[in-house]
Amino acid sequence: MPSKATAAKPGKSPGRPPADSPAAIFRALIQRHLVSTLARHEGSATPRDWWVATALAVRDTIHERMIATQAVHNANNVRRIYYFSLEYLMGRLFGNNLLATGLMDTAKAALASLGQDFEKIREAEVDMGLGNGGLGRLAACFLDSLATLDYPALGYGIYYEFGLFRQAFAANGQQVEHPDNWILFGDPWEVARPEYTQEVRFYGRIENVFDDHGNYRPRWVDTKTILGVPHDIPTAGFGTGTVNLLRLWASKSSEDFDLAAFNRGGYVEAVREKAIGETVSKVLYPNDKTETGKELRLMQQYFFVACSLRDIIRRHFRNPANSWKNFAGKVAVQLNDTHPAIAVVELTRILIDEHGFTLAAAWEIVGATFAYTNHTLLPEALEKWSVGLFERVLPRHLQLIYDINAQLLKAVETKWPGDNEKKRICSLIEENGHKQVRMANLAVAGSHAVNGVAALHTDLLKKNLFPEFDALYPGKFQNKTNGITPRRWLHKANPRLSALITKKLGSAAWVRGLDQLHGLEKSAGDAAFQKEFMAIKRANKVDLAAVIKAECGVDVSPDALFDVQIKRLHEYKRQHLNLLHILALYRRLLQNPGLDIVPRVFVFGAKAAPGYDLAKNIIRAINVVGAHINTDPRIGGKLKVVFLPNYRVSLAEKIIPAADLSEQISTAGKEASGTGNMKLSLNGALTIGTLDGANVEIKEEVGDENIFIFGLNVDEVAALWAKGYKPWDFYQADEELRAVLDWLGSDFFTPGEHGAFALVHDSLLSGGDPYLVLADFRRYCDCQARVDAAYRDKAKWAKMAILNTARLGKFSSDRTIREYAKDIWSLKPVKV
Ligand SMILES: *Cc1c(COP(=O)(O)O)cnc(C)c1O
Repeated sequence: MPSKATAAKPGKSPGRPPADSPAAIFRALIQRHLVSTLARHEGSATPRDWWVATALAVRDTIHERMIATQAVHNANNVRRIYYFSLEYLMGRLFGNNLLATGLMDTAKAALASLGQDFEKIREAEVDMGLGNGGLGRLAACFLDSLATLDYPALGYGIYYEFGLFRQAFAANGQQVEHPDNWILFGDPWEVARPEYTQEVRFYGRIENVFDDHGNYRPRWVDTKTILGVPHDIPTAGFGTGTVNLLRLWASKSSEDFDLAAFNRGGYVEAVREKAIGETVSKVLYPNDKTETGKELRLMQQYFFVACSLRDIIRRHFRNPANSWKNFAGKVAVQLNDTHPAIAVVELTRILIDEHGFTLAAAWEIVGATFAYTNHTLLPEALEKWSVGLFERVLPRHLQLIYDINAQLLKAVETKWPGDNEKKRICSLIEENGHKQVRMANLAVAGSHAVNGVAALHTDLLKKNLFPEFDALYPGKFQNKTNGITPRRWLHKANPRLSALITKKLGSAAWVRGLDQLHGLEKSAGDAAFQKEFMAIKRANKVDLAAVIKAECGVDVSPDALFDVQIKRLHEYKRQHLNLLHILALYRRLLQNPGLDIVPRVFVFGAKAAPGYDLAKNIIRAINVVGAHINTDPRIGGKLKVVFLPNYRVSLAEKIIPAADLSEQISTAGKEASGTGNMKLSLNGALTIGTLDGANVEIKEEVGDENIFIFGLNVDEVAALWAKGYKPWDFYQADEELRAVLDWLGSDFFTPGEHGAFALVHDSLLSGGDPYLVLADFRRYCDCQARVDAAYRDKAKWAKMAILNTARLGKFSSDRTIREYAKDIWSLKPVKV
């Protein structure tokens, strides 16, 4: 118990809870952590101190549940899913953990009685941004659903010292990257587990050795070792006792590494090598296709996979009932993209080199263990590693890849005798010129299931990317449409709407069963309900307007239409198509100041990979054009354009509840699924989008009349390319398009600086417009005009928005995870 000196003065704070109430007990817990853990006097505690103390108080409950969960799982020797991902975009954990444990109201009351502002305190948490975008956020949503649905699960990944960079904008609108030193002040959620440290070997050479029976038993020698130290983050299920783990590996140099260096070069050299050991987990790679430092990236992949597999094997054999015979019966591993695909080879290597398996026997266990999720069809995003690099870093693995490839090509020969083209396509090694290892082919060959992430994407995966593998392995390919966790993306992010839904449905059960939102449909046409629903939207817009004012210094009206595009900056996502439409509207207003358009606030949030110059040029163009529009008195404030800096999960949670319109305008065939589209629609934003990724399925769910679809579909895109696409034809044929492109290409927006937006301008014309921006421009503008018209009819818009929320149940990650559990993992829930 806190001493009298540290406790708040009785009677002074508002509504001090009765001594034995949950809030009073929790309050004492916060005070105890403030004093005993943080050594802080209440009077000098910062919001961050209060946040840490409160987080630790919640963590007490979470740890109890975590210990209980692991005890039940271990005692029952359960089958588990191990999720391998190089990225986890967790965001903040505070609110989520409070809701999961049912302590939200208790904590609020406790903090209020201590005179602390809950909202201010939760802002002290730095996002855990160990991912780039959708892929990493999917992993985080999956962990939430796995725990909530009581599936025994562990996430494995890397404990990056620096997550995705922090984004700022320079005075000229250019993106500036700052390091994200998220761990600087420590992380109250994590527990380091040095006792489970693993050793990982790199480099070295192969010694050709034969055993007593004349079997080839190669030895991997002269390797360098680094250590992996696990850091556990508990992932708490909502409204259930299950708490699973996210286990992240931090690299450390090993002692013998140091010693060898010490003997060679003395103290300074030893310290230098120690730094190399720690470099492996230093920084998350930005999603940058022209990345340098490929060797380090390959080392990261192997490092976390090797640590994780050893950890899985250690845990498996801890139970004397277990053996290699039941390994695949107890262990299911899901590969989140090809980033961890080297795991397939590492398990093969462990089985053959350390446990005496034949390749055929090892490969059987491997195939039964792994499954692979493909996230992209973009050729530049399909991972390949040069054979030379592999040979240097992982020589034994390269040998095994050749052995595995020989088997694979035998199967191809059996299926298509004499067909060398088929062999060339299926081979794990790309032979044209520079030899490369194809990680996607390796992942397909080593997995019993391969899934795409939306129906359309899986279709294209089978038809365009892997038709040969689909024929070779019938039934291996399947679809698992992505989802999002309703806990974070509605219940936590939009408390007002969450409360209204609970009131309307008469229970909060929808938080764990999102299909129940269908119950709102019958009220979609009800004027009173529409009013409540839209009043919440407006209140959320008022909140976002305050954020916009604070971050961008721009005043926006909550009565304008909030038109939102938030996602990584990439040409295929076509933020520049949005920009061209903004320019067109601005020009129309300049030419006709009385023009009657619905006032709009265009909200952007996006980071561009630091080496992706064109993407950064698009950001600058939006910032500069936006600043110009925002300060032009001639248009009467009808248009505002704001680019909120440092887009991340916690910012997404503030933008999404306030969105009226969701921009999902990728070139058809390029967005595998998207999940931002689901978050926005679930929160009552209407989608303007192409028939791409999960937009197709959102349209099926909400109905054609509740979504704005435009543009070329996948077949039309293919036909246009086949015919020969010339952006100049569209430029010449469309007066407005020509005008806005010329405008963008001029120095109108950057007086005295010529060619400021040449990168984006030229990519659309002389650059051939690879993502068909000009081809879709006119139909996009026409569709935006339909949005404008629909927004004027308040009742109609409200009904459409409500029906979006009501019909989005399918896109809960709970549904996705149940499908994985049933069709891929054969996994049963275990109640704790
Ligand atoms: C959901 C999410 C994404 C993915 O957005 P898409 O529109 O699907 O690309 C990216 N970043 C963050 C922070 C997210 O929350």
